[in-house]
Amino acid sequence: MKNVYEQMEEKNAEENIKAFNYRQKYYSYENKVIHARNIINEFIRETRKRGLNTHVSVGGLDSITLLCFLRDLGHDDIPAISASHLEDVSIRKIHKQLGVEHVKPLKIDEKGKVTKDPKGKTITKPYILQNFGFPVLSKEKAAKIETLQNPTEDNKTVRHAIITGETGEYGGYQKDSRMKLPQKWLKLFGGYENEAESCEYGMPDFKVSAKCCYYLKEKPCDDWATEHNSVPFLGMMASEGGRREKALKMNGCNYYGETVIRSCPFAIFSRQDLLQLALDLRVPVPEIYGEIVRDEDGTLRTTGAQRTGCEMCGFGIHIEQRPHRFDRMRLQNEKKWKFWMYECCTDEITGEKYGWGRVLEYLGIEWEQPPYIQMGIDDYLKGAER
Ligand code: SF4
Repeated sequence: MKNVYEQMEEKNAEENIKAFNYRQKYYSYENKVIHARNIINEFIRETRKRGLNTHVSVGGLDSITLLCFLRDLGHDDIPAISASHLEDVSIRKIHKQLGVEHVKPLKIDEKGKVTKDPKGKTITKPYILQNFGFPVLSKEKAAKIETLQNPTEDNKTVRHAIITGETGEYGGYQKDSRMKLPQKWLKLFGGYENEAESCEYGMPDFKVSAKCCYYLKEKPCDDWATEHNSVPFLGMMASEGGRREKALKMNGCNYYGETVIRSCPFAIFSRQDLLQLALDLRVPVPEIYGEIVRDEDGTLRTTGAQRTGCEMCGFGIHIEQRPHRFDRMRLQNEKKWKFWMYECCTDEITGEKYGWGRVLEYLGIEWEQPPYIQMGIDDYLKGAER
């Protein structure tokens, strides 16, 4: 039986979701823009009252548009930050043009601990891949595989739930919970529990981890925010789906939690709203996206990439068609591609160099043979431009 506070919280969340859905569905583009402006003004007022500064966290087109929107509203004093070194070179160029501050990557000491000592070694992506593991499938699934690869007495119940879906007392004795890793991935990654669970799953000869984002993006930006006593404006939209959708709907556009305070003025926007605003504000569009164009039926789209992520990231690669992101990297820079595919890590047992090639091979993703051998060079180049 839920106590009165839990019941109230549940009711609040339900009401928030209802209000959010209504705005998202029925507000016109113009009303959404007015709403975003009001959200920004309210956030600035409220955070000032709390003695906090604000900044914009900038990555791809969505947050570049947010930065331009803030500037358009006259908030030139709100700084913009980014872990730019992870982004595509064309995005970095726009960041520079807009005066986005590049947050410094983290450093580690000789024991591998994060340090403020400027003499420490910079944490790079190869360091993350070698010491924590490769970001594959999705953040959630990578975190589960990472738990299986790092067994402790404390995570025993969680490991059991990942393999079987049974949650035990803490999870309300569920039988087939969402904690279970899908069967397809259990076959490849569940082998760490073969003995304990009497199964016969496989085990890769590489590590998997969801920590890449944390060390390369989130922590450096969080550290900057703490140093500057500042809370962020983020370009997230619920329409992009995923885990963020639910959080945005429950917590609303502006959220003032105990540990997290943030504003997402575009939370109710659709992709179309975002692209329309980018056009209205004449946002400089990074080359990787191509141009924003309107199809005959009025739909806006970018002629290049629809979304971007960091270079050499494995999240979502299993659902991408060839030529996929690794193929495109090969076309742009074969030398760099070779490093990432064959050389970015060292096998701790054999001393052999390896890279994403080993990982993609294990996931059953084609990568080595250039895709134009199967699809013809014209189709390949068309795809590679995406
Ligand atoms: S998006 Fe991918 S590559 Fe970029 S920081 Fe996150 S896990 Fe790493």
